[in-house]
Amino acid sequence: MTIELDDGAAVWGGKGEPDPPQTEVPIVDLDAPLSDEFRADDADVKVRSSDGMVFKVHRKTINKYSEGLLRDGVPDSRGEFQLNENRETLRLLFQFMYKKRPNLGSLPFQSLRSLAEASESYEVDPLGDMCDHQMRLHARTYPMEVLAYAVKRSLTEALEEVAPRTVGTCIETALRELGRDVFVPWVLYRENWIEIMRDINDPPTVLHKGGLRTCELWYAYYMAVTNDLRGCGPGEVNEGSRIFGRYRGSLKGCTHCNIRADKWKRAFEGAPDKMPSFGSVLSGLTS
Ligand SMILES: [Zn+2]
Repeated sequence: MTIELDDGAAVWGGKGEPDPPQTEVPIVDLDAPLSDEFRADDADVKVRSSDGMVFKVHRKTINKYSEGLLRDGVPDSRGEFQLNENRETLRLLFQFMYKKRPNLGSLPFQSLRSLAEASESYEVDPLGDMCDHQMRLHARTYPMEVLAYAVKRSLTEALEEVAPRTVGTCIETALRELGRDVFVPWVLYRENWIEIMRDINDPPTVLHKGGLRTCELWYAYYMAVTNDLRGCGPGEVNEGSRIFGRYRGSLKGCTHCNIRADKWKRAFEGAPDKMPSFGSVLSGLTS
């Protein structure tokens, strides 16, 4: 018996009557809705997403944009090319190939990331370039993910832009995103910041009246600021410098402590300049 797909329903060919979904009907075909957008009658290739949607597309168009999507050019026993990407990613990929201009700017980060990875896997280079640009725009909210992507794609500028924002990321996330080879240089990069901050957070004393090195107001201010600065990396120095003002009221009784706090803040604001570039740390280990 043959099976045809008609609007997502399984139909026994030649009988005229659709069977109810009995157990003898292969589950795989019940699960195979056809894309509303890519179902051309003259299509010569069927592609199935990881979540079971079938796209009917044209080999000529696919091969024009992609080096690797159809690989050896031989479909599986169902006559389909089974891919690892989900239906959303494939829909966007085909929209690009069919010049439907997918709106990458409106995509949630994980969707963009999947599309970017698919573009790289299948060597859809112009789309990959568009994804590179969009991925960079997520550097603030997904710094570690963007860093991992920038390393993989050798995007030097993006890499240096986002690396300073990753320093506060927990190491489990860093290891998961970067993989062992990049994780080790990243830890060394992060160590530079930890050492710089150790120096910065030991601001020189300002002599008080009577030759005293400090007064009772300093300790509470110091503890509050260092606590808030924790997890603040060289990429968040603008946000971090506001922390110094947050507790300033507690020092208003002492001009000397205020001078000390000002110097501390300036030293912190200059701290990112002491950081090595991420690329230099990376190449020091990988070359
Ligand atoms: Zn004081």
